[in-house]
Amino acid sequence: MDPKSAAAPVCPAQRFLEGERTEKLYDTDSHLREFTAKVISCEQEGERWAVVLDRTAFFPEGGGQASDTGTLGARRVTDAQEAAGEIRHYTDGPLKAGEAVEGRLDWEKRFRRMQNHSGEHILSGLVHARYGYRNVGFHLGDGEVTVDFDGELTRTQLDELETAVNRAIAENASVSCWYPPKEELAALDYRSKLELTENVRLVKIEGYDLCACCAPHVSRTGEIGSLHILDSMRHRGGIRLRILCGLDAMEDARARYQATLAISGLLSVPQLETPNAVRRVLGELEETKQALADARRQVLRMKADALPETEGNLCLFEPELDMLSLRELVNAGMEKAGGICAAFAGKDGAWKYIMGSRSADLRSLAKEINAAIGGRGGGRPEMIQGSCTASRQEIEAYFAR
Ligand SMILES: [Zn+2]
Repeated sequence: MDPKSAAAPVCPAQRFLEGERTEKLYDTDSHLREFTAKVISCEQEGERWAVVLDRTAFFPEGGGQASDTGTLGARRVTDAQEAAGEIRHYTDGPLKAGEAVEGRLDWEKRFRRMQNHSGEHILSGLVHARYGYRNVGFHLGDGEVTVDFDGELTRTQLDELETAVNRAIAENASVSCWYPPKEELAALDYRSKLELTENVRLVKIEGYDLCACCAPHVSRTGEIGSLHILDSMRHRGGIRLRILCGLDAMEDARARYQATLAISGLLSVPQLETPNAVRRVLGELEETKQALADARRQVLRMKADALPETEGNLCLFEPELDMLSLRELVNAGMEKAGGICAAFAGKDGAWKYIMGSRSADLRSLAKEINAAIGGRGGGRPEMIQGSCTASRQEIEAYFAR
């Protein structure tokens, strides 16, 4: 799958479309990664420079695909945009108008995008042929490709489509791009049909797809390597698929493999048995949680039973208790204390409290109590709840009065 050895796409030479200043070298040779061109103009735009060339291999952003990056001479090209019949290369420094310049693409990035984009065309062509759904959204980022269709697909259908795309890749079918004349175009049935009747660039994947598209593609489907449907979600009455092709797909598969390998090692089961093993572990965890909750309730009951009867206050510290259990403890403590039963969970400086009393009006006392223990909170006459910042010692001293 060496892209160097791949033949150039079968495209009739098309130097300029009407009104265009920049010859699109990528239109006729998608595998061109270095070229020489003449600088037509260079204008500063804020922090960067907009360079227009007489010819370029830089694909500008378009059709869901990001722009190429690379270098022009010693300058870095960070973006390229097409506007008013010219392609503006945005660089980090100026170039002299009239001079010849060497252009070089970040080829690895571009090649991966071609793999993903051509793979998407095969998938969309098959979805359209089999189910009549249209591709209504496409985003091609680095390592992130999404395709939206205006109809839903089942898991089985997705599996069948994935297999069919990979068979088309293995067939090494030819990919060609051309601008058909008006009459030929009018007679053709292709995806993404445009209002335009002229200057429409068609991309044909022999036996699988015919679609209007401005982007560079692989020359034969074998270059795509493989296509993986990673996941799917319902989206605006249809479906959104995340897919990856070629080297991106391989790296993604490797990351997933490593994740599964790690899980398989942790659970000491073969990789393909990890889902059942995880289910088993989660079941055991749920049982353990239940048993722990039962045990906590039992301990709480014993603690409540063991509370001493007193004429004065009961001050209890239970760092680990949740508020529900703390309340149960206070309910029991109120019955045994003549004064206030105050229970605290948490730690010094960050306690949560619940206080209950059968004799005192806690709502009225809340202000005084909070002032003494650095607290805030309130509630009903028989029970208040809040938090405080005092230490255990300070709290005990207050309630020991
Ligand atoms: Zn396309």
